[in-house]
Amino acid sequence: MQSAKRAHCGNCHFLIKQCVCKWIPVLSTRLKILILQDPKEAKHAKNTVSLLSLGLPSVECISIANHDVLSSTLRQKDPAKWRLVFPSDDAVPIESIDASSATEVEGLILLDATWRKAKKFYFTESLLHAFKAVCFLRPPVGQYSIRKSPSMESLSTLEACAYAIEQVTNENMQPLRDFMVAAQEWQWRKQPLSHRHLDC
Ligand SMILES: [Zn+2]
Repeated sequence: MQSAKRAHCGNCHFLIKQCVCKWIPVLSTRLKILILQDPKEAKHAKNTVSLLSLGLPSVECISIANHDVLSSTLRQKDPAKWRLVFPSDDAVPIESIDASSATEVEGLILLDATWRKAKKFYFTESLLHAFKAVCFLRPPVGQYSIRKSPSMESLSTLEACAYAIEQVTNENMQPLRDFMVAAQEWQWRKQPLSHRHLDC
């Protein structure tokens, strides 16, 4: 009995009873997406990167704990063509990128961590400073504003990624948000309310 309960779906890798396969949208973007993930975040019940990767299979996610992989991956990216989504002091609002600069953007780097951890990581990882940073001037309201942090960072990584892609490419990422909402409502359907607002 126990093993059946813990069986995972071979496609979405969630527990069978939390399988989200039927909601996965068929979606693509011309941008390459690199997620730098805090390993603690990967274990978080509400983490959205696994949903993001299901919706956009081209998403690359690497752990910030694996420094060798991290630095070799970052060194392979052309800072002229990649942007870091992070509100550093010199970040440019993503809404203000004009069409011609937007076409030069090949990929986006996002940090998947708590605001506090992301900030610390940004300031200690000098390889990140090679990339021009972009921030959100008018971030959309997050579906689940559960984290105690400044407004841009109250978005889930999936929502931040969807918004950033839309601003750069004009591709419609609403199916990605709809997928997140449908998947999470399904996955939490029988959980007590107290489990829905886990705070890190
Ligand atoms: Zn599945």
